[in-house]
Amino acid sequence: MKLSEHVETLVVGAGFAGIGLVARLLRDDPAADVVIVERGSDVGGTWRDNTYPGCACDVPTSLYSFSFAPSTAWSHTFARQPEIYAYLRKVADETGVADRVVTDCELVEARWDEAETVWRLKTSRGSLTATVLVAATGALSTPSIPNIPGLDGFDGTVFHSATWNHEHDLSGERVAVIGTGASAVQFVPEIAGATEHVTVFQRTPAWVIPRLDRAFSNLEKAVLRRIPLAQKLRRGAVYTLREMLGSMFSHVTSLLPLFEVLAKTHLRRQVRDPQLRRKLTPDFRIGCKRVLLSNDWLKTLDRDDVTLVDSRLESIDGNSVVDGDGNTREVDTIIFATGFTPTEPPISHAITGLDGRTLADHWDGSPAAYKGTSVAGFPNLFLMYGPNTNLGHSSIVYMLESQAAYIAGAIELMRRRDVASFEITRIMQDRYNEKIQHALQPTVWNTGGCSSWYLDSHGRNSSLWPTFTFEFRSKLASFDSDHYVTRRSAPVSE
Ligand code: NAP
Repeated sequence: MKLSEHVETLVVGAGFAGIGLVARLLRDDPAADVVIVERGSDVGGTWRDNTYPGCACDVPTSLYSFSFAPSTAWSHTFARQPEIYAYLRKVADETGVADRVVTDCELVEARWDEAETVWRLKTSRGSLTATVLVAATGALSTPSIPNIPGLDGFDGTVFHSATWNHEHDLSGERVAVIGTGASAVQFVPEIAGATEHVTVFQRTPAWVIPRLDRAFSNLEKAVLRRIPLAQKLRRGAVYTLREMLGSMFSHVTSLLPLFEVLAKTHLRRQVRDPQLRRKLTPDFRIGCKRVLLSNDWLKTLDRDDVTLVDSRLESIDGNSVVDGDGNTREVDTIIFATGFTPTEPPISHAITGLDGRTLADHWDGSPAAYKGTSVAGFPNLFLMYGPNTNLGHSSIVYMLESQAAYIAGAIELMRRRDVASFEITRIMQDRYNEKIQHALQPTVWNTGGCSSWYLDSHGRNSSLWPTFTFEFRSKLASFDSDHYVTRRSAPVSE
């Protein structure tokens, strides 16, 4: 597909968020004037990019999928990356979204033109204007690689877990893995044994519980295929359990020590060495950082050909990694499993609002939005997976579908009432965020005694939604135009 000179709605990013939104817009109006620009060469977002060994979802798939596109093709209760990627491509094809995607096209700059009430956009494949701009670029799309002294001089191979180098054969190599988060726990058990030695650098131990994963039997698959209600009930049950879990993190944190007993039992069962167990025991409340699900991470660290270093990677000296205690180890490959930049999204530097300042300038390292979706000073801009929409316990797809409904409502209203632009008022945005921050205060994410990427550089939790996800859905059920400044393009008769 080619870019035209003007489009009503331009969406940036064709991952779960972009596909979900455009599928919704096309369902409401098959002729909707909407285009997605995608910097990659295919749809799929994080599930296209993250191809590391063992990559899988840590939310049950019956919930981590679109409500409007149930699938019976999942092999396991926690789906693997290739099948989630295939699912997204299939949904994009079947809903017509794929026909609206311009691939290998990066948004370079977006400037709001108040006189013409349009977004002036520069992309790597040409310029255009759009009435509405939607940033659906995901929170976990830009890999973060720490600035380790000496890294430039390292002669071996270096890559990030999100850009796995499949050309590079790790067999027989000495490998250093930096980071012990959700990605590392999935790929380290896969590479250990095939390499000569793996050295894992842990900055902070995480709470780990078993992943209750299993293959779907043929009978279960047949039931789910033939009886749609069975699938809905399954989804509903998983959703309810996850909300109960979420309420332990947000409302009844006093129950969390019980959960720690489960994690400590798991640790005792998997690790024989008491000294190693001590290194792997967190000193913060469970849930403060994302709880990791794994059946083989802890026991992998107990292998003779795997070493856990619990002091940070200090520097790199030639081909040796140097830890905080000054010990050096020669390695052939370094794999960074150091996560992403969720509170500093690169797109925030590309979008310039009414006052000539970028979103990044406005946020100054601490993102804030109204309902995680619109931002004062940025008319006709909508964010998906924006500030305070992330979850520590359930499926982000549920949140994205809620946002898609809200944005679709706004676009429909603009058309119906001949509105040129909507801009959320500063006062509404501030009031909304005061309530969100107040609700976050007693949660384990704020009080659990850890530092996590949920907290931004100001120490403010600008990532997580504080309470039940159905409350988010209810807040975004319809577009509340009364809270927006409206500029009309023509007189309206109502
Ligand atoms: P992550 O969970 O943020 O973990 C990053 C790891 O790198 C942490 O152990 C962190 O230590 C460490 N680290 C970061 N900067 C470092 C530095 N400068 N020096 C040393 N260590 C450093 O990243 P991730 O594992 O890539 O996962 C990111 C997010 O992606 C997850 O939280 C999750 O939301 C998502 N994810 C989801 C799935 C899924 O199945 N749905 C799978 C993988 C990832 P500290 O703990 O001390 O910060």
